Amino acid sequence: MTSRILVTGGAGFIGSHLCKKLLSEGNTVFCLDNLFTGSKDNISDLLSDENFHFICSDVEDKIEIDVQYIYNLACPASPVHYQYDPIKTLKTSIFGIINMLELARDNNAVILQASTSEVYGDPLCHPQKEAYWGNVNPVGVRSCYDEGKRCAETFVFEYSRKFNLNSRIVRIFNTYGPNMNINDGRVVSNFIVQALQNKDITVFGDGSQTRSFCYVDDLVNALVLMMNNSLNFKGPVNLGNPCERTVLELAELIIKLTNSNSKIIFKDLPKDDPIKRRPDISLAKEKLNWEPCVDINDGLAKTISYFKSKLAEINK
Ligand code: NAD
Ligand code: UDP
Repeated sequence: MTSRILVTGGAGFIGSHLCKKLLSEGNTVFCLDNLFTGSKDNISDLLSDENFHFICSDVEDKIEIDVQYIYNLACPASPVHYQYDPIKTLKTSIFGIINMLELARDNNAVILQASTSEVYGDPLCHPQKEAYWGNVNPVGVRSCYDEGKRCAETFVFEYSRKFNLNSRIVRIFNTYGPNMNINDGRVVSNFIVQALQNKDITVFGDGSQTRSFCYVDDLVNALVLMMNNSLNFKGPVNLGNPCERTVLELAELIIKLTNSNSKIIFKDLPKDDPIKRRPDISLAKEKLNWEPCVDINDGLAKTISYFKSKLAEINK
């Protein structure tokens, strides 16, 4: 059965892939985005589809729309972008989720909140399980994002308890792939764009901090499975690839895959940058029968080819 689905942040990196998948399954998709970090380029091939509707709007603003499912992804995700206007980032997370929860309540819709591994902060437990409550600095430079997402999770649970809402929370770990903004500032896009231009690769700190990188197709499959799970499993559930590597290893791999002459240089580690991160995905395996299957070499190859064509467009 096809449905009417709202995707906030649908012109962003993950949102654009999600819109495409939902459309390909025959649904009617409403993509709401204020284009802060997203771009119409990401959805240019969808705009001509009669089942696709782009709404240029802020997630904080009231909207009347008849939908059965809401994926709430609107929020800048790169540290560079969420720290650009921290108060706006907090408002996007908090007023945005209140607005979407009320829309879900009024429409009797199922709502999925895109939360983050950042709710664990600089984790003292490794790998991170959902039961871990985290180690977040509430007044640091990352807290506008971390605490905004934590508070949004609380709103989801309180609305669900009070109004018996059908809700889901996913905690997304570092995800990469085509449609990342060329100026996104996150590590995979930065390293690929630098390597393709034979510029210095900027490793922050000594590069020994770790992350676990998930290809976007794997992640989007999990979002849809979580939304539609018949167990009425609300989460929170970790979604990510448990294959962990250091940032320095990532730099070396990208230099190899791009055949680049770039040199690695070391810059200051940003404040409160988590030292290690890896999801424990046993809950996603058990409840959703999901685990990522794209190998990092294949995922990076597709991402490199995307940025090659983006750079070629710019240099035309
Ligand atoms: P992105 O920055 O590419 O996408 C976010 C989208 O939200 C953009 O299109 C942006 O224009 C839009 N947006 C921002 N503020 C808005 C507002 N106030 N009103 C309407 N639209 C707004 O980032 P992404 O990587 O695609 O992340 C999507 C979601 O997934 C975010 O909620 C993010 O917190 C979450 N997430 C992503 C990752 C990851 O590694 N990519 C990890 C954890 C969580
Ligand atoms: N990083 C880096 N060089 C860059 C961008 C990021 O070394 O040009 C590091 C960053 O300090 C962090 C890791 O890569 O340790 C992941 O950063 P990103 O911004 O992608 O995501 P985060 O997991 O920190 O939100």
